[in-house]
Amino acid sequence: MPGFEFFGEEERKEVNDVLETGILMRYGFDGPRKGIWKSKELEAAICSRFGSDYAQLTSSGTAALTTAMAALGVGAGDEVIMPAFTFVASFEAVLSVGAVPVLVDIDSSLTLSPEAVKAAITSKTKCVMPVHMCGSMADLDALQAICKEHKLILLEDACQSIGGTYKGKALGTIGDAGTFSFDFVKTITCGEGGVVMTNNKEVYIKSDAFTDHGHDHLGVDRGADLHPFLGYNFRISELHAAVGLAQIKKLDTFLDLQKRNNQILRSYMEQAPGVSFRTVPDPNGDSYSFLTWFLPTQAQTEKAIEAMKEAGILAGNFYWFANNWHYIRKWDHLKTAKSLYALNQDQQNAITALQHNAFDKSDAIMSRCISTAISLTWTEEQMHEKGAKFLAVLKASLS
Ligand SMILES: *Cc1c(COP(=O)(O)O)cnc(C)c1O
Repeated sequence: MPGFEFFGEEERKEVNDVLETGILMRYGFDGPRKGIWKSKELEAAICSRFGSDYAQLTSSGTAALTTAMAALGVGAGDEVIMPAFTFVASFEAVLSVGAVPVLVDIDSSLTLSPEAVKAAITSKTKCVMPVHMCGSMADLDALQAICKEHKLILLEDACQSIGGTYKGKALGTIGDAGTFSFDFVKTITCGEGGVVMTNNKEVYIKSDAFTDHGHDHLGVDRGADLHPFLGYNFRISELHAAVGLAQIKKLDTFLDLQKRNNQILRSYMEQAPGVSFRTVPDPNGDSYSFLTWFLPTQAQTEKAIEAMKEAGILAGNFYWFANNWHYIRKWDHLKTAKSLYALNQDQQNAITALQHNAFDKSDAIMSRCISTAISLTWTEEQMHEKGAKFLAVLKASLS
């Protein structure tokens, strides 16, 4: 899964190019930077690798989501429909632009259930934000049809699915905008970083200015730039972009290794009685960063986790149902609106109401679900050993 496992000579070379000039900022200093523009180069590489018309780098994936929403005009009074299983960044970004996060059930794809989305639409709904969790994707045809019918924005959070595709198109390039995260544990990393991808020139131009205090970037003199609207500082640095540039060149190697290792592990898991796997709307588009599997009941799942712990093979396996970061059950700070500053009344009402919301359909899925992170460093031989051990432990635990 994570690109940091393959950090080396290539990253050091790209970073050194920046250190040689000492120009760590992505804008300006045209003379002293001696033609070194790592952020621009990485944006061009992203457009070409993923087939997006435009790409705007940001300081994080969370900043990318915030930027995309701002550029798409999502703000106070608007509702954004998002899944109850995701990373906390999803609702953080919605709250940060003043909009209301509307959390709904997932289905066996572990992403937004189209049925749940339909049921949650109100006159205030502005945006649907599927989160392509754990390397695979949401049912984008169904979600696009809903968005088209109700004239809603489709924003893809593809932060965890770099390199995944849906019907031949890269995840993150299919909606009105999409985002990747390049934080330290993502498929490719910048250390910290993110990107907004879009095929809409206006959304791009707005994203470009929004991430740099509203600078229009039209002149040659940065100090003389006009500010057509308010922005923030969500810029990436040249040092971070340099790391990403080395990483994107290795992405296809990472994806090949993920696929090989994932498929070997799966071939063993398939032999365990009662084990089933997540639904993948386009089976050819999985990025294979995780192998996500289910057991028939919650009790069996908890028992299997105990057995894996005892056998020393639990590391790298995620039981999201009991995890503090990824599932609504443990988001008490959200549900009790523990904000350092006053939220707007719509936000306050909506998130405190979550205390009384049941997510039975999601619970029924998540309580039986384990995701195994796929390391890039495991050799084929180690993968077979791992698979056999997994299978033995599961068989014993299930019998
Ligand atoms: C990692 C992640 C983010 C946020 O990215 P950061 O770069 O850590 O801010 C957003 N959404 C999902 C689903 C993620 O996994």
